[in-house]
Amino acid sequence: MSTVSTVVGGISFWYAQEGTPAPREPLPGDTNVDVCIVGGGYTGLWTAYYLKKAVPFLNITVLEAKFCGYGASGRNGGWLYNGIAGRDRYAKLHGHEAAVRLQKAMNETVGEVVRTAAEEKIDADIHQGGVLEVAHTPAQLARLKDFHSVEIAFGETDRILRGARETAERVHVTGAVGSTWTPHGARLHPAKLVKGLADAVEALGVTIHESTPVTEIKPKHAVTPYGTVRAPYVLRCTEGFTASLKGQKRTWLPMNSSMIVTEPLPARIWDTIGWEGRETLGDMAHAYFYAQRTADGRIALGGRGYPYRFGSATDNDGRTQPATVTALRDLMVRLFPVTAGVHVDHAWSGVLGVPRDWCATVTLDRSTGLGYAGGYVGSGVATANLAARTLRDLIQQDSGQAGPTELTALPWVNHKVRRWEPEPFRWLGVHGMYAAYRAADRRETTSPRPGTDPIAKAADRIAGRH
Ligand SMILES: Cc1cc2nc3c(=O)[nH]c(=O)nc-3n(C[C@H](O)[C@H](O)[C@H](O)COP(=O)(O)OP(=O)(O)OC[C@H]3O[C@@H](n4cnc5c(N)ncnc54)[C@H](O)[C@@H]3O)c2cc1C
Repeated sequence: MSTVSTVVGGISFWYAQEGTPAPREPLPGDTNVDVCIVGGGYTGLWTAYYLKKAVPFLNITVLEAKFCGYGASGRNGGWLYNGIAGRDRYAKLHGHEAAVRLQKAMNETVGEVVRTAAEEKIDADIHQGGVLEVAHTPAQLARLKDFHSVEIAFGETDRILRGARETAERVHVTGAVGSTWTPHGARLHPAKLVKGLADAVEALGVTIHESTPVTEIKPKHAVTPYGTVRAPYVLRCTEGFTASLKGQKRTWLPMNSSMIVTEPLPARIWDTIGWEGRETLGDMAHAYFYAQRTADGRIALGGRGYPYRFGSATDNDGRTQPATVTALRDLMVRLFPVTAGVHVDHAWSGVLGVPRDWCATVTLDRSTGLGYAGGYVGSGVATANLAARTLRDLIQQDSGQAGPTELTALPWVNHKVRRWEPEPFRWLGVHGMYAAYRAADRRETTSPRPGTDPIAKAADRIAGRH
């Protein structure tokens, strides 16, 4: 089927549906505040939210290059779930018990976002149906069972393993041979959440300046073309865009993720697919997909597509290669053959931040007042909220208003990692890794063996993932 009339780019379908927000004023000139937050996505906005709630007299300014939610926070797959990048490495570095605490905090974060959105009257189409991940091949099934056991060992005792028949009773994914389900997940509309959050933050008395790109962050300063904001605390919340800041080119690699969304599907198609529970849905492929059934009855499905642009370039307002749109559509039809005739309304892309060791972090340098959070590697919808509450606690601790908390003691706090290699090695490495993953997925599709393909294992090791 042709994708000619598919809207491609335009930031995201979520914004096409919601409308982009009315612009806020740029920074009017030099100013002094208590806390300056750079970046108006979930991380920056949740941080402003929790800090202002905790210390109402704080003078907080958010500086956003475009508009709040322009980045991944307004483009993602809407999986609010308890996964956090790097947990297993943190277990190796700090011990199992520390990583269990981190996992428990993530489990609780899902509820925290749902509760706070309700309190703030943010209607983000949230549905707590949990997360369902399926396997299609013997190798995927073996990985799924391992994954399931590991998650239970990290304290998720409420996780359920399902066979082929039980899986099909939840969602009819063609060829699914089993699944694992956790209740710690919800579907949401990303742009509705980030728009509501920006409004809530503003209503609390935080100042947000949009169309204000920060060119350089240095201790106690955020420099923009419109003036400099001076503050004892300057927090970098720019995730996949971090490379555009002076001196940060090789800090976090901007990885692309791409999505498509169908037209609203008629009841006859939903009768075939099922998916009554509105679980967020994914699989165990190396180049995995993620999907949701939207509140208005569409399938929104994402995957890697073109993984990385040379020189850590970011995207152009979500524009996406035709080949990626076709690949995602083909994948959807393989999963749900009944969607073969449906129209893809919109396709878009976004960037997420990947640290060299694939571990999310939250940091406050007490000597400079510089902080940052991110490197979520595609699991940032919930993690950004935990990071924000942790930044709040770190600032309160540093300014003598409170002592250490459970959050400041989590093992991802103040984690340091080396930078990415210079080009062309970054480009070659990432493209090689995804070529290997795709090859491994193809080989596993035809292999009767349950083991993970050695190509994928080698790619993981070279990429520094395990
Ligand atoms: C297509 C896609 C699908 C995803 N799906 C999921 C999912 O289903 N579940 C999940 O958990 N995670 C998902 N993620 C990841 C998740 O969306 C992100 O981890 C999360 O939104 C990060 O929030 P953030 O606020 O840290 O960054 P962002 O939302 O990227 O916000 C950063 C903000 O900083 C601004 N900015 C950048 N540079 C500057 C500058 N120099 N000066 C001022 N402002 C600046 C940007 O304009 C942007 O608004 C997905 C990501 C993508 C791209």
